Amino acid sequence: MKTSTTRQLLTSVSLMSLICVTGFANAKSADAWTSAGVLGSVSSIANTNLTLFEVGSTAPIQTVVNPTTIFGGICHHCGQFQPFKLVDGSKVCSMCGCGEPNLECIGWEHFKSYDAANVLSSLPEGTGIRVVFNTDGNSASGIKDLYITRKQALVPVSGITSISSTDLLNLLKPIGVNSAKLVNGGSLLQLNLKNDWTAKKAVQLNTLLAKDGGKVLPLVPSVTK
Ligand SMILES: [Zn+2]
Ligand SMILES: [Zn+2]
Repeated sequence: MKTSTTRQLLTSVSLMSLICVTGFANAKSADAWTSAGVLGSVSSIANTNLTLFEVGSTAPIQTVVNPTTIFGGICHHCGQFQPFKLVDGSKVCSMCGCGEPNLECIGWEHFKSYDAANVLSSLPEGTGIRVVFNTDGNSASGIKDLYITRKQALVPVSGITSISSTDLLNLLKPIGVNSAKLVNGGSLLQLNLKNDWTAKKAVQLNTLLAKDGGKVLPLVPSVTK
């Protein structure tokens, strides 16, 4: 017990030091990127064509990424927000000296090839993405910015419209949910989380909703190449 408390303390101290060194310079941009555009999640991918769930859109939307789309997310290696053009996704990160391809920094794993489809389909189902279109509100204009925000999730659900928001939040406490909101007429569940969304949490979410007669709808991103 004592050892683990000491370890926690040391971890907190070193984390605080890290925040002192890197955090403040990025604090402002961190706020901006996690609230940019509209919250979505990936339904399916075919090359550069994406079908997305999106807050405010009744049906999944069709859109496209292109070489100049700015991808971004938290770098797995240094914890900073890392933006880059998709065309530079396979180039070595110039931000933190990790020596890895940009798309690995924000995708958090090695990929056979560094393209949008491989990275986006590797995310845990329902992982939040912030999407800004080239023309505001027009998905057909293509994606200008796509930021992976792992402390947000957007999951298609059914059967939980009768659960009060207080009961819903209590129900989802075990997976570290800070806030839960049913959107799009009750067909999507928008979550803000204490920690990163994971594939395990997606499974747990289904189990928790089933207690009150709800369920997670199939949302495995399917990739066609
Ligand atoms: Zn980095
Ligand atoms: Zn990196």
